[in-house]
Amino acid sequence: MTEFEVDKLEKVRNAVNVCTMCGFCKSVCPSFKAIGWDSALSRGRIALTYGLLTGEIEPDESVVENMYTCTTCADCVRRCPSKVDIVEIIEMCRSDLVKAGAILPKHKAICENIVRLNNPYGEKKSIKDTIGRKPKKAKVGYFIGCTATYRDKEIAKSTMSILDKLKVDYTTLDEVCCGSVMQRVGWDDADSVKLFKRNVDHIRSLGVETLVLSCAGCYRMFKDEYPKHVEVPFRVLHISEFLAERELKLKSMKGKIITYHDPCHLGRHMGVYEAPRKVLKSIPGAIYEEMEFNRAQSHCCGGGGGVRSAFPEDSKRIADTRMEEAEFADIVVTTCPFCVSNLNLGKGDRRIRVADLTEIVDELL
Ligand code: SF4
Ligand code: SF4
Repeated sequence: MTEFEVDKLEKVRNAVNVCTMCGFCKSVCPSFKAIGWDSALSRGRIALTYGLLTGEIEPDESVVENMYTCTTCADCVRRCPSKVDIVEIIEMCRSDLVKAGAILPKHKAICENIVRLNNPYGEKKSIKDTIGRKPKKAKVGYFIGCTATYRDKEIAKSTMSILDKLKVDYTTLDEVCCGSVMQRVGWDDADSVKLFKRNVDHIRSLGVETLVLSCAGCYRMFKDEYPKHVEVPFRVLHISEFLAERELKLKSMKGKIITYHDPCHLGRHMGVYEAPRKVLKSIPGAIYEEMEFNRAQSHCCGGGGGVRSAFPEDSKRIADTRMEEAEFADIVVTTCPFCVSNLNLGKGDRRIRVADLTEIVDELL
């Protein structure tokens, strides 16, 4: 590594010392289950970070791969009896790797796209122009996010349709990427903070009092990360929370078995478990059943932390495991565009439908 930072070293040394090698993280880590090596596991990644900081190991290809196959799902953090903040250490290590030039080409291209074009996909048209709606003064703002704008467009369409049907006075935004990808892969904070400021200044200028988001990753950024860097002068709600606050008159889904997959960014990272369940349980005639691993114990879809873009095969194996767990249902509903697309990848030829909550609500409203 290029830098030797004493405070970081102390934090990681402490983590290495308090880790009792109990292996509880091993029992939950989705990347370990997909890859099978201890180095692709929480405690292994802490040891690698320590070795990098002390200079005992070099950031070669295999070390970088092990640090970047973590989905940042935080199931290990939940499970660790020594309370090691494993995800924080992994993200700290990633940021040092990026500074040392050891960034994966896929992640470099994504972050450079965001710097140049304000979205990770390299799309030249802005979100505002792609959606085709002009921002206006309104009490409610809908932050669509890059994935629902450029890739999983049904989620954006359904969310706007729901807000229209509920006669909400809302506006879409001239938004830029929320900065989540940059933060997860360890890109320079200065670039993500520019995005935070630009989004918040724009939303504030429209007089928005409540910001609604349909992406779990963007939601976590506005609710948890943005306030560390900028003042956020509006309420931030995930669309599931926004809907759970209302009396929805939904059509029947008689006899359909529905289950819910908790996105890691919304569930474990932000503690939002009940709002989407409340909405799903209010569907007349539907049979709601939990998966064995739910809420804080939910298994990851494999799509986060930059794993999907850099290691699609590992990501797909993790999604396949999750879909196997949902096989009893007719529909697995989730609340994040990344989870929707990754679970669809893991679906294979199973007959179960994967849907975002907004698609289901829009169909039934
Ligand atoms: S955050 Fe998830 S993928 Fe990463 S080490 Fe922990 S359990 Fe494994
Ligand atoms: S759960 Fe915590 S203490 Fe146990 S092996 Fe993993 S990191 Fe170490």
